[in-house]
Amino acid sequence: MLNDTICAVSTALKEGAISIVRLSGEEAFRIIKEISDLKEIVPNTIRYTHIYDQEEMLDEVLVSCFKAPHSYTAEDLVEINCHGGIYVTRTILNLLIKKGCRPAEPGEFSKRAYLNGRLDLSQAESANDLIKAANSLQARSALRGLNGSLEKLLDPLLLEMKNIIAMIEVNIDYPEYEDEIEMTAEQIAPAVTKWIVWEENMIRKAERFRTVKDGLDTVIIGKPNVGKSSLLNALLGEDKAIVTDIAGTTRDLVEGKAILDNVILNLTDTAGIRESNDIVEAIGIQKSKEALAKADLVLLVMDGANIDEEDQRLLKLSEGSKRLIVYNKKDLCPHDGINISAKENDISMLVDYLNEHYADAIALADEDILNNERQIALMKRSLTALKELNAALSTLPLDVIFEDLMESYHRLCEILGKEYQEDLIDHMFRNFCLGK
Ligand code: GDP
Repeated sequence: MLNDTICAVSTALKEGAISIVRLSGEEAFRIIKEISDLKEIVPNTIRYTHIYDQEEMLDEVLVSCFKAPHSYTAEDLVEINCHGGIYVTRTILNLLIKKGCRPAEPGEFSKRAYLNGRLDLSQAESANDLIKAANSLQARSALRGLNGSLEKLLDPLLLEMKNIIAMIEVNIDYPEYEDEIEMTAEQIAPAVTKWIVWEENMIRKAERFRTVKDGLDTVIIGKPNVGKSSLLNALLGEDKAIVTDIAGTTRDLVEGKAILDNVILNLTDTAGIRESNDIVEAIGIQKSKEALAKADLVLLVMDGANIDEEDQRLLKLSEGSKRLIVYNKKDLCPHDGINISAKENDISMLVDYLNEHYADAIALADEDILNNERQIALMKRSLTALKELNAALSTLPLDVIFEDLMESYHRLCEILGKEYQEDLIDHMFRNFCLGK
């Protein structure tokens, strides 16, 4: 039921100076009046008051009231800024439930914002992305999405499609209207070609951006003792891999996320790729080879002072992959190329290189583009329909190929959630944080 009043703790449930408890729905104002000193609601103000459970005072709080439709959910919404911490917050939440609120499901505030038309689906997704953003790149692109960048991007295309759809529909439904322009395949062909090029470009950009936004699958390879584990630790900023000077001790794949300012590396450390009689190590080597083939980026670490035929073998092995040679131990022996000293945490030359190498993808954070897997998949379906339409244009009558045009149009609408399936929506919002 959309009309019931929901409540949740919107801040993290842990000790802190302030927590925010939110309630949204038709009963929100009645309930806050019942449990505080507030006698009337003045929208868009912050009021100092106390929360009571009958005679017992629970907390000294600040309350903000937002009157529908001018709130996050587009419903009457109250935010109680109470003292942070687990006990007080929970007590207030329980009181709200006693007064008739229902505990919100994760993402339900955003779901209401969407169902009430306050956010489109892509904006709601961006609100969630912003909460989960780990670096400036993710935050920038999420904020752009939250401000409705996708609607701005898609609206002109949707309008062009809608116009042509409407004209064809009139032709089909009212053939006797001679005043209407008769649409022909030749007339719509240039538009269809233009849409195809545009959608292909959007998909290409989104996929390029997604790699840097979600993280490059990165494998670190190199012969034993060149400093792979030290590099991993320097990138992760923690002692995740054990660093030793005994050859061949890094036997398992160690995984971690290196969150640099604009680039994220999903890191895998490997045993040195080389022949080995040691069975445990051999398993590690096989895993390394598999990881190499799939990686977006292979960091081949060498010790500048000690390059031998084993390095040559690794160079050959990693040929054809997206390999970057990194010379470590520059404190002992500087080398031409990307020089680092992992042990000293001096990896700036590598980080600068990555920022520069992926600059075009990083710059996409400041463009209006598709933001996630769901949106890209829908545009691909729209594109497939357009291509089918294009292929049939010269041979089939317009009323037959009209279906393809409708399919393409509907998939684009779905990106914004203008047409939706209840299941999909529920599934999507379930991944949201509680209280958002
Ligand atoms: P791995 O076997 O390739 O993972 O190499 P490790 O990271 O375990 O490092 C092997 C040895 O080289 C350790 O003793 C490290 O302290 C040392 N080492 C790593 N990086 C550097 C560096 O930049 N400079 C110097 N001088 N020693 C380093």
